[in-house]
Amino acid sequence: MAVCLIEIPQDSPGFNQFIGSWAHLGKTNFIVDVGPANTATRLIDRLESLGIDRLDNIFLTHIHIDHAGGLADVLERYPMARVICHEKAIPFLTDPSRLWTGSLSVLGKTAILYGMPKPVEEKWFIPHSRCNIPGLTIVETPGHAVHHLSFSYDGKLFAGEAAGNYLALDNETYLRPATPPRFFLAAYLESLERLLALENQSLCYGHFGEAPHSHEMLDRFHAQLHRWKEIILEELTKGEENPIPGCMKTLLENDPEIKLFKKLSPSMQHREKFFLSNSINGYFELLRERQSFGS
Ligand SMILES: [Zn+2]
Repeated sequence: MAVCLIEIPQDSPGFNQFIGSWAHLGKTNFIVDVGPANTATRLIDRLESLGIDRLDNIFLTHIHIDHAGGLADVLERYPMARVICHEKAIPFLTDPSRLWTGSLSVLGKTAILYGMPKPVEEKWFIPHSRCNIPGLTIVETPGHAVHHLSFSYDGKLFAGEAAGNYLALDNETYLRPATPPRFFLAAYLESLERLLALENQSLCYGHFGEAPHSHEMLDRFHAQLHRWKEIILEELTKGEENPIPGCMKTLLENDPEIKLFKKLSPSMQHREKFFLSNSINGYFELLRERQSFGS
């Protein structure tokens, strides 16, 4: 049995150590997420170079286009694979037009970089509620996305973005909320509780890499979501016309989990600034809607 992270290179500076697919190889072969449409052939090439000619399953943590966009191409190469995803997400994959419109509005040019997903026929899917794979635990983890799932198998927790975004560099870690609009804070926190109720195991992030102790990382992320809420609320009381730069500055100065930002390469910093802004924006929208924010 082996679990490995396959990095899927993207054609944009700074998008390294960011997009990938987890592969579990052994008695059962599965991958978790497939990356964007535009780079599906890179994932397929890599799977082939690992000698994989059979995929039993593809697990999708969620259907954002950087996780599920390449699905049609991967299924064309591995037609024996069955796709496990949230039952309510399936219509967005059989007809991805709404998914694409939403991606363009949240991600702009980055959506173009990832590419437009092709439709996938319904016959490939097994709704998560009807999936029964021995040894696999599926946990509903809404928050980052409404139809988000996490998968625990063989001592590994594949958490997509339910545990935030992660990077390890020079024995230090970087942890950032993945909270673009619309995100659901109360649901996010409840999802963390559900993951904390599982045994302590290795945590495999959607972006990017593996941390050995899920409980420690989930606790840290839980605290960070609250910290961001407090800092952003405080910043908003200043009444700036555009509060994002102030929020970002204060977060970078006061959130120890993103201290490593200073050591990232300039192009990775550029990438992270885009996603930090998006995550701050998610908090703004939450505030505007007055939903879940008291939690
Ligand atoms: Zn996502």
